[in-house]
Amino acid sequence: MAWRSSGTSNADLVAQLWRNNLITLPRVRDAFLAVDRAQYCPRAPYQDSPQSIGYAATISAPHMHAAAVEKLIPFVIPPFSPPDADKKKGEPDKEEGGGPASGARGRWVLDIGSGSGYLTHVLAELVGPTGRVVGVEHVPELAAMGEANMQKSAAGCALLESGRVRFVVGDGRKGWAEAGAGAGEEEEGEPNRGLWDAIHVGASAVTLHQELVDQLRAPGRMFIPVDDDDGGGSGQKRGQHIWAVDKDANGKITKERLFAVRYVPLTDGPQRR
Ligand code: SAH
Repeated sequence: MAWRSSGTSNADLVAQLWRNNLITLPRVRDAFLAVDRAQYCPRAPYQDSPQSIGYAATISAPHMHAAAVEKLIPFVIPPFSPPDADKKKGEPDKEEGGGPASGARGRWVLDIGSGSGYLTHVLAELVGPTGRVVGVEHVPELAAMGEANMQKSAAGCALLESGRVRFVVGDGRKGWAEAGAGAGEEEEGEPNRGLWDAIHVGASAVTLHQELVDQLRAPGRMFIPVDDDDGGGSGQKRGQHIWAVDKDANGKITKERLFAVRYVPLTDGPQRR
């Protein structure tokens, strides 16, 4: 994944991401244009590289955020309801990246390791008025920082006030169970096989945590960096790859290894150190 999309302003950064085909959908471009990275990234916000945000955390590089959103987009954008009767209700708008229909409610997206809150905000721009995004952070100061960063813009304030986006403190390896929407509950006569249409994990996992897979809706998709298998404990330094984990409408899981990355690890929270 090339780090070649630096810009001189937010609009220029997004233009570079677009030029380099890292952002390909107009709706995704609009969401990135709507969120000024400078409000989330204290230094060199328009450089295409990760930056420190304190507490041993980094805001990921813009091209990584773009890759994550582009991969998750069919499960982030609300299902398309065409105005004309020719098309089937709930049919996805393929050109705009709309994904499979999944019931009447808006999309629910979980952003694990929300850090700066930047991606949480971008995702909230995309889920639509009835969707929700929850950012999970195990460092309370970072959960507060994500929220404070969103409060720097009127649009961010409105998203927080509407409840479309929320930051919570917890161990993201266990996902997040929303009150009143537990896995296993019935919804419109359908078994609710999970909570989240899309799960983004912003720190690397030692394994594909089953609890996260369980919390994925059917259909749903997770974008997660996972440490490479060390080939049986050889002691050699391992790399990481992004995995896209899909759960289809019948609950069948498929995993796709995408590309090599370097993320900070998902760790025990500060309270357990
Ligand atoms: N998406 C964020 C990435 C922040 S870096 C951004 O671009 O700003 C990874 C984040 O994961 C850090 O903020 C770190 O505190 C958090 N993290 C690490 N282990 C975690 C865990 N077990 N549960 C929740 N968050 C965790």
